[in-house]
This record gives sequence, C-alpha cells and structure tokens, in this order.
Amino acid sequence: MKKIGLLRENQHSNIAVLIPQNIRQLKSDAEFYIETNAGLASGYTDEDYTKAGAIIINSKSELINIADVILSYSAVIGNEEINSTKTFVGAYDVLNDYSTIIPFQKKGVNVYSLNLLPRTTIAQSMDILSSVASILGYKAVLIAATISPITIPMMSGAGGTLRPANVLILGAGVAGLQAIATAKRLGAIVRAFDVRKASKTDVESLGATFIDIEGAIDNSNAGGYAVEQNKEYMEKVDEILFNEAINADIIISTAKIPGKRAPLLISEAAIKAMKPDSVIVDLAADTGGNSALTQKGKTIITNNRITIVGDTRILGKIAKSASFLLANNFASFLKHYLANNDDDEILNATKVITDGQVTNPRLIAEIENL
Ligand code: NAD
Repeated sequence: MKKIGLLRENQHSNIAVLIPQNIRQLKSDAEFYIETNAGLASGYTDEDYTKAGAIIINSKSELINIADVILSYSAVIGNEEINSTKTFVGAYDVLNDYSTIIPFQKKGVNVYSLNLLPRTTIAQSMDILSSVASILGYKAVLIAATISPITIPMMSGAGGTLRPANVLILGAGVAGLQAIATAKRLGAIVRAFDVRKASKTDVESLGATFIDIEGAIDNSNAGGYAVEQNKEYMEKVDEILFNEAINADIIISTAKIPGKRAPLLISEAAIKAMKPDSVIVDLAADTGGNSALTQKGKTIITNNRITIVGDTRILGKIAKSASFLLANNFASFLKHYLANNDDDEILNATKVITDGQVTNPRLIAEIENL
C-alpha cells in the first residue's frame, strides 16, 4: 500500500489537507502518516488522527522519508527535504508563479497541483479553487463590515433610520457570488460587475443589480473563465466603475484571469474620489490586485481614509471551515490518484513535473510566453 504523508502547514494557510474523517474513508487504500499538530489549527488533535487510523510523526524530514506521496496546501519544504520527496501533491499556483516548483524540478520530484484541475464533472469534488474562492468571498465581506464604521443593514429606531450600505462586487465568479450572497444576507444594497455575460443571471438570482458594460470579449474556449480585455473596453470600464466606486461604502474585488495579472478595475483617481472611510477588500491582491493602490499582503489607509485590504492570508483566518472543504477535495483527488495511472485526464491535467521535466501543457504554454 502507498504511504501518504501529511505536512503541517505554516501560518499562511493553516490548512489541514486531510481531516480524520478522510483517513477513516481511505485507510483501506493507503497508509497515512501525519506530521505532529498538522490539524491543530483546523480543530483536530493528533489523537483524533490516531483514532482514525493514522500514525503521527514528530519530524518533518522523517515523515518525508517515509512517504511515497506528500500532501500539502502550501507548506514550506527545505532543499534537504525536497531531496527525499518522491511525489508531491499540492496547490501551488504555478501558472502565476512558476518559481515555487523549480527546486522540485531540479531534484526530479513528481509534482501535482490541484490548482490545475479541469473544471469537469468528475473533477468537481476535487475543485479546491471553488472551495477557496467561496470561503474568501464570504470572509472578505465580514472583514470589510468589521473595518467599516457604518452598519450594513437598514436600521430604524428611536434615533432615526440608518440607510443600508452600498456594496460593490467586482468579478462575479465563485468568490464574487459568495460575497454578493453574504452582503445581501447582511442587508446591503449590492451591485456587481463581471465581463462574463453568463454571470448576469447568477448576480440577479441573488438579488443584486448587474452592471452591464457592453463590448467585452467573451471567449467560449476559455473553459468558463474570463480573458484579457482590450484597451478601449477597459477605458469604458474605468469610466463606469469610477462612478460606481464613489457611491460604494464597501468594494469587494475578486476579478482574476488564470495565468495573468488581475485586471485593474479601480483606478487611483477613483480611490481618491471615494467617500472617506470606505473599504476595499481586494481578493486579487496575490496576482497584482484589482485596485491601483493595493499592496500585496498589507492593509493600507490612504490619505483620504480609504482602507485597502490586500491580505493574502485570509484563508488561514478561517482555517476550520476551509480545511473541511479542502480536505474533502484532496481526499477525492487522492482516491482518484490511487485508483488510476497517469493515462487519466485529471492526473494528466494536474501533473506539473514528471521526473524533472515540466509536462503540463498549460504551464509549458505559459513558460513559452514568458
Ligand atoms: P476566477 O477566480 O478566475 O475569476 C473571478 C471572476 O473575475 C470571474 O467571474 C471572471 O469572469 C471575472 N473577471 C475577470 N476579468 C474581469 C474584468 N476585467 N472585469 C470584471 N470581472 C472580471 O474565476 P472563478 O470564480 O474560479 O470561476 C470562473 C468560471 O468558472 C465561472 O464561469 C464558474 O461558473 C466556472 N466554474 C466552473 C466549475 C465547474 O465546472 N466545476 C467550478 C467552479 C467555477
């Protein structure tokens, strides 16, 4: 039986990519070795894993030596440890940052990234991108609501009536739709924009208003994802979103294009014209940000008192729920991995490096375009 090793993550994600219930389900297919305290930030003790049938290992290097396959969300692995890694299954965003896997390539480690899963019916239960996006969309609204000095719902009382907050959502994919649903539940007036026409129905079905900006390039071959827009269209977007931004109390921006810099949707001029004390939570901060002043990993307050959150560690702040979803995704992938060989659509799409060579067609295309 294959030996599967689970690493303890750093504070960046705090994620446990398998939880005890997954081990119970998979223990007849593989042996499980868990780095001590790997599940603690997600609410699971070493004892919970032991009861489920796993073996706890104190040292990371020993665990890596034992395991045939290492599972991790984004754990940091030293060069020495990479030397003894055989196969690594993770969630590296290789299309945006190829440098993370170069050490693995040099040492001939086989690497899979669940970030590259095709969005097909079979892969749906493994879709970590959707799990992460949902959690982040939800949490982003709560972060903004906590920073904002105004209430979100309309409230009437002895002191008068507080108007509902205006929330603007940019990008209405998985994260954006979850943000819309969360803001609506809190009682906000929500407006949302996306370049994909298909998202209009989704936005409206959640009770928000869709900002329709005609003329976007909608590529039906892009697997349901958006593509980069031309300059003329983006100038039109800039003008319309300027007027949307100045009315907003909160902006949650989630717009992304796979393998590319995030589109710039909130200009510096718009930020300068926004109402003081408005809040932007930019979930695209890790790929360049949707606002002109976003700083990756930082929260800043501009001179006109706009808070811009560029936090890239939000997932680790909601680790218990995030781990539950991601662990089920990883377990589903692992089950598939254990039952199939590399002649399989899902394994082929996710395999990044085979015996020291980049074998992923999407990544090869990206590298050729560098
Ligand atoms: P994403 O994270 O890549 O992007 C987020 C959103 O940003 C997308 O809706 C995109 O259209 C939007 N965007 C990109 N450029 C923009 C711009 N210039 N202005 C405004 N918005 C812009 O995408 P995602 O949320 O992961 O999902 C995108 C698509 O994939 C959706 O159609 C979704 O329904 C689909 N999806 C399919 C599956 C499945 O089949 N299993 C699972 C999840 C998502």
